[in-house]
Amino acid sequence: MKIAVLSRNPNLYSTRRLLEAIEQKGHEAIRLDHMHCDIIMDEAGPSIYYHGKKLEKIDAIIPRIGASVTFYGTAVVRQFEMMKTFSAVDSLAITRSRDKLRSLQILSRSGLNMPRTAFTNRSENAGEYILEHLGKAPVVLKLLEGTQGLGVVLAETRKAAESVIEAFEGLKARVIMQEFIKEAGGADIRVFVVDGEVVGAMKRQGKEGEFRSNLHRGGSANVIKLSRAEKAAALKAAKAMGLAIAGVDMLQSSRGPLILEVNSSPGLEGIEKATGIDIAGKIIEYIERGKDKKRLPKDNV
Ligand code: ADP
Ligand code: GLU
Repeated sequence: MKIAVLSRNPNLYSTRRLLEAIEQKGHEAIRLDHMHCDIIMDEAGPSIYYHGKKLEKIDAIIPRIGASVTFYGTAVVRQFEMMKTFSAVDSLAITRSRDKLRSLQILSRSGLNMPRTAFTNRSENAGEYILEHLGKAPVVLKLLEGTQGLGVVLAETRKAAESVIEAFEGLKARVIMQEFIKEAGGADIRVFVVDGEVVGAMKRQGKEGEFRSNLHRGGSANVIKLSRAEKAAALKAAKAMGLAIAGVDMLQSSRGPLILEVNSSPGLEGIEKATGIDIAGKIIEYIERGKDKKRLPKDNV
């Protein structure tokens, strides 16, 4: 097979590992920068040009679309899908996963447990609203556009929450308010799911005095054995989002696992280093199994 990794940066650990795993399994590997893919539509059907040349004979793609280029990146993935190229991750599922609010709506509908979350247009009454829907402070405020822990704020008191909401409002930024899960203790769990199976899991602990456990915020990672409930929640979350490859983040709480979010381009470095598992290889094995289906995602047609 000829398998393309869509990635802007050949030096990223995840990109290098995927290209390596493709070759290790005896396939041809290429990297394509999705931002240099031109999308052409005419009566001959959808096609893609790369640096002026028409792309041909690519059997499968592995999208690694960064959050800052979701619109163009998913348009390129969709074009490959229209050309009946197998995509390891559906374009629609990437779009879904990039919207925190939409994701939580979908996860909630699926009956998954999550920190109780509120979204309101009546931010002038934020304090009242918090009391009404979330009980009492502390609460976590999250910018809808944030990633890697940036834009996630812990407000210890109702007054603090009101000030932060007011500040975000002044910047025309939208926020969701969430119940603070204290017993998570500044840690979360990242579960890596490939094709309906848990292929690796790690626990991430925030640095001293930090409630956010993101590795980008200085957190550290260790391998963890999941409970049955954690495994089941991760698989259900990936399925609800329509993601064949997913990084499911959850908190351990006194009422069981609570889903935080589901990443559609989960990084490989942290999880491979923490677990010693060849996750890139698992992704290629999934493509080998799934490629023949060459299905168009039904929601996409
Ligand atoms: P991002 O997408 O920016 O990583 P998250 O929603 O995953 O944002 O939040 C970042 C981190 O903050 C999480 O990994 C977790 O450690 C912590 N966190 C987020 N929400 C809560 C919450 N409701 N209660 C306790 N800790 C939380
Ligand atoms: N690579 C980041 C992670 O695994 C974020 C991926 C995304 O935005 O989908 O946490």
